[in-house]
Amino acid sequence: MQSPHPRPPALPPSLTVNPRLTPPVHVPLLVLLLMLGCGVVAYHLSERAGLRALADNGERQLELHAHTLASAISIHAYLPSLLELETGVGRLLLEPSERRRAQVNAYLEGLNQRSGSRAVYLLDRSGRVVATSNWRDADSFQGDDLSFRPYFQDAIQGKPGRFYGLDSITGEPGYYLSHGLRRAGEIIGVAVVKIRLDPLEERWQRAQLEAYVSDGNGIVILSSDPARRFKSVQPLDAERRTQLASSLQYHWTRFEELQPLRRQRLSADTELLSLPSAASAQPVSYLAQTRRLADPPWDFTLLSPVRDVRSAATSHGLLAAVAVALLAFLLIAWNERRKTLATRLAAREALEEANNQLERRIAERTEHLRASNERLKAQIRERRQAEESLRKTQDDLIQAGKLAVIGQMSTSIAHELNQPLAALRTLSGNTVRFLARGDSATASSNLQTINELVDHMGRITASLRAFARRSDDRGEAALDKAVDAALFLLRPRLERTPLTIHRTCADARLAIDQTRLEQILVNLIVNAIDALSAQSDRQLWLDGRVEDGHYRLAVRDNGPGIPPALRSQLFEPFFTTKPGEQGLGLGLTLSASLAAAAGGSLTAQHPDDGGTLFELKLPLLPPSPAESRRDA
Ligand code: ADP
Repeated sequence: MQSPHPRPPALPPSLTVNPRLTPPVHVPLLVLLLMLGCGVVAYHLSERAGLRALADNGERQLELHAHTLASAISIHAYLPSLLELETGVGRLLLEPSERRRAQVNAYLEGLNQRSGSRAVYLLDRSGRVVATSNWRDADSFQGDDLSFRPYFQDAIQGKPGRFYGLDSITGEPGYYLSHGLRRAGEIIGVAVVKIRLDPLEERWQRAQLEAYVSDGNGIVILSSDPARRFKSVQPLDAERRTQLASSLQYHWTRFEELQPLRRQRLSADTELLSLPSAASAQPVSYLAQTRRLADPPWDFTLLSPVRDVRSAATSHGLLAAVAVALLAFLLIAWNERRKTLATRLAAREALEEANNQLERRIAERTEHLRASNERLKAQIRERRQAEESLRKTQDDLIQAGKLAVIGQMSTSIAHELNQPLAALRTLSGNTVRFLARGDSATASSNLQTINELVDHMGRITASLRAFARRSDDRGEAALDKAVDAALFLLRPRLERTPLTIHRTCADARLAIDQTRLEQILVNLIVNAIDALSAQSDRQLWLDGRVEDGHYRLAVRDNGPGIPPALRSQLFEPFFTTKPGEQGLGLGLTLSASLAAAAGGSLTAQHPDDGGTLFELKLPLLPPSPAESRRDA
């Protein structure tokens, strides 16, 4: 049968799902990529900003030092032309003499000392030194032929001579400024000032400035790092090399190229260079800013190491990566917490919903149970009423049955009572006559007989009254107790007629009134005693057991048995074979009626090995709750 209440559905999935609280595998990879990306971007941004700042600073340095270099040259630029004003100089060039040379030498020596130049000297038109400030020195230029020097050739043609080179004899570097001295429009000689620029290099070194100056040939002529000096910043072909060697501008120097390991141009005058370092095996990267000087046309290059910029950029990149990692961690943590809270909230809501559902179902079920209970109570009431009316009907039926039995017996009863009544009438009439005659002995005998007849009639009516009594038709009886009571009741008879009783009946609760059961047992046992009274071997078996839902009690004796001719009359009222007043012939009739009234039966059997067996079948009572528990 299908249950009226289907099982509640399973809880919502949100309650059963265990949310994944750990981030998926690809998240760390994503974070790593993000860290790398942000780190690289931060590095580049920082490097770019650092380079810009470096370039700005370099621009200022470049401005300053280029200006310093230009000033160092320009303060001497007027000196050669100044000699034109000196009349002694003109006279020496036009009409040389030793006295004039000595005068001019002294003058040039003084001038050189005051101007701080390296040397000031005078060339005649042929390019030979006629007077010089270093006339006292062993390496004096006096008498040297310097006509091959470009600064002479320029000046003799009326152009200002500018030349950087190494001294052809001493190899000392210097910057030469020359001027063609004119007299009456004619160039009569050339005045030359040689200045040293190496103090600038020392100043750069002191200021820890890395810079170099390359001339128009691309040869580094000034450098804070001596190793870079006289190196070529641009490739030199063989023809150019030969030309430079023959001019002796740089003496006999073999030019090596200042070849950067890496070069990246950032703008027209700014580039990133990687130059080999003498101090370490690693090349050093520089921001190289170049500025072209106006006069002379040299390139001033400032090298700013980018190491600090790069290490700062690396720090910034790392910082950005760490910040991204931190941010990612916070985001993941926040997201996990959000998910956990959401899951908890969903679970709580689902739980509440399930709880509400459960409560609703419990309320519905309770309501249903209450209704069922009410229905059951009503049914029980109806059943009880039905049972009551059934019982009443049954009682009525039984009573009707009993009355019917009595009705059936009425002829026999009337006959049975009429006989003693007729005898009584006769006896009483005779007694009156015997008393009138004075025969008191016969009258007394008659009265004695009358008394016995009345007793006999009284016993008949008592039995019938007991049978017809309405109550006690239903009830319950304990078999053992009933057997005990019957044997106790019959003790006087049993003492007079002792017999061996084989009692093998199991106790049971039977659906019959206890007294009625005792009454039946007494009738059956009395009949057995009566049947056995004439013999010496007297045996009685009381054998009882439960069979087919009924209790079957066999009451058997080893008496003479009942002759077959009489067997059909056994249960007829007033059938008796017992002599005189011993038998009423109602015992078996009433016992069978009582058994039938209780829903059972009483039958007689006639075993082949003798004796008589009466089988009493009675319905069992359902076991009491206490018995049920014991049995369990
Ligand atoms: P009563 O005992 O008054 O005679 P019952 O109805 O009890 O009346 O018995 C009817 C008759 O059945 C008895 O008179 C007897 O002849 C016979 N009868 C009953 N029980 C036995 C028995 N156990 N053995 C032999 N005959 C019996």
